Amino acid sequence: PAVPSLELAGGHSIPQLGYGVFKVENDVAADVTLTALEAGYRHLDTAKVYGNEEGVGRAIRTSGVPREELFVTTKLWNDAQAFDDAIAACEASLERLGLDYVDLYLVHWAVPSQGQYVEAWKALIELQQRGLVRAIGVSNYPAEQLQEIIETTGVAPAIHQIELHPYFQQRELREIHAQHGILTEAWGPLGQGKSDLLENPVVTGIAEAHGASPAQVVLAWHLAHSIVTIPKSVTPSRIVENLAAAELELTADEVAAIDDLDRPDGRGGADPATKTS
Ligand code: NAD
Repeated sequence: PAVPSLELAGGHSIPQLGYGVFKVENDVAADVTLTALEAGYRHLDTAKVYGNEEGVGRAIRTSGVPREELFVTTKLWNDAQAFDDAIAACEASLERLGLDYVDLYLVHWAVPSQGQYVEAWKALIELQQRGLVRAIGVSNYPAEQLQEIIETTGVAPAIHQIELHPYFQQRELREIHAQHGILTEAWGPLGQGKSDLLENPVVTGIAEAHGASPAQVVLAWHLAHSIVTIPKSVTPSRIVENLAAAELELTADEVAAIDDLDRPDGRGGADPATKTS
């Protein structure tokens, strides 16, 4: 399936639909990432803390997909936000991946109480200047800390990766992103199996109308909003199914009906403002 790309600040582009490997053990990650690459995914999302960068790197080499056709993201963990630690952590991630650069490096969480989220951002700016990473961004920054790093350094993240799905639409942050030319990337796009999102009658009704699956409808909604989305599955048929969402086009009315599913208590994961480690 043809996956659209979005332009990143700085001139690179990112495939809008990628493959995430949270909670996938290293050896399993090598297998399922290879399945994903064979299915046609060209954008992979891992992190130091997932413990599977080595497996993801192995899959990349086994696949034979040329490096320049791939978009690889990894993330700086919360225990290495001090400047020198962050530089070393990125080098170690590249070593485990077997790559000489990643396309996108993210600060994984702001952890405001730790007080190092500005320093970590400065380290990513340095890593980009050194050429170890093509684009830099953040993940899980509350609005306040997001605005602070931009004001302090004059450099806006190319991307902000946040929990986002129809039950938790993050309108306030998306507004700030639009003002600064920051792309929004959704983690937990399918709701992480923590809610009844994929059984919601609005979602299943639209799915039936298109002969599509509920997961495809939710992913097509992300794409319709110019959001980058990185669903995870370890089931080969679902890996293929999720990628095919790139070919599902929702009507404006369908997008609006899903927009109406936003809930004040829709967050499924940790709150970035209060996460402490
Ligand atoms: P997700 O919303 O992608 O949900 C994954 C789960 O949904 C699967 O385990 C499976 O149970 C189910 N599923 C997948 N495809 C399906 C289908 N076609 N039909 C029915 N059910 C299906 O949640 P996630 O894995 O947590 O998030 C996606 C990716 O985002 C992660 O793998 C990771 O790369 C990234 N992530 C980042 C952060 C962060 O803090 N930056 C946090 C969580 C996840």
